[in-house]
Amino acid sequence: MKAYPLKLKPIYKQRIWGGQKLREVFNKDIPAGNKIGESWELADLPDDKSVITNGELAGQTLGSVIQQYPKEITGDKNFTGPFPLLIKFLDAQDVLSVQVHPDPETCERLGKGQPKTECWYIISAMPGAVIYKGLKKGVTKEQFTEAIENGPPRRIAELLAKVPVEVGQCHFLPAGTCHSIGAGLLIAEIQTPSDTTYRIFDWNRVDDSGKPRELHIEEALESIHFEASGDDPAVTTVGRLIDCEYFRVDKGAQGKGSEVFLSRGKPKTLIFLTGFGTILGADLPKAGPVEFKAGDCLVVPAVYEGTMRFAEDTQYLTVSI
Ligand SMILES: [Zn+2]
Repeated sequence: MKAYPLKLKPIYKQRIWGGQKLREVFNKDIPAGNKIGESWELADLPDDKSVITNGELAGQTLGSVIQQYPKEITGDKNFTGPFPLLIKFLDAQDVLSVQVHPDPETCERLGKGQPKTECWYIISAMPGAVIYKGLKKGVTKEQFTEAIENGPPRRIAELLAKVPVEVGQCHFLPAGTCHSIGAGLLIAEIQTPSDTTYRIFDWNRVDDSGKPRELHIEEALESIHFEASGDDPAVTTVGRLIDCEYFRVDKGAQGKGSEVFLSRGKPKTLIFLTGFGTILGADLPKAGPVEFKAGDCLVVPAVYEGTMRFAEDTQYLTVSI
């Protein structure tokens, strides 16, 4: 296989709180009229697998390509998958449910679920937009349980740390952090590959058939890190945004006409936020140019060497594992 940057086909998810912003901002071909809340840009989960759209590997899933070429794609890590990242764009037109994801110990204790640590990069925000990021300082398990059991329901939200957000911020949400995304936000979400979400409060909403969505109170209370209440993980905006045990996220901003070298060694995932350009392989013409534009997510195999050439001012995130 001749390694080259792999483009992936997004998987769109309808959500009660979603909208059409992914079309407006990134020109994504989402189903018209539907509330699309999530675009899964990179997924290698049992039920959702990203498919490659360019070059000789087009039509194959990222997962199957890693199995065939573990060394070429993952380098020294040399694993056969699944790929240890899940990357999404989220269009929150309405507030998301208050929820928590378990850590590895909690999954083991409960005998189910997959742990999830995530971070949110704010792509666009309506004036006054907020996120809910953990519990307010000093909130105990007893107080939180009391609010869930005896309400009023909004009391749960009042116990959460409400944080105003701005474009360009990156917020870290380690497993065990109770959280919610407020209305009016477009977010790039980078997380460990898991679909385990324990919902605590859904703002008294019902779906199109008039039913409320399921809650998972017991599991949520087991998963929340109450001892960390009031901790506010640092907010970053430049350079290395996240450096946790699962992944690193770096912010890049390049002017029109500039170039950045992509060295071999480790697999990289690139998420383009603005602008466009081309990636040229070191051994052209065999490794033909690959174009990128805002809204694209590419996996660059570990053995690939090339140059990103920016045709317009471009902002992007590099996720490494
Ligand atoms: Zn979450």
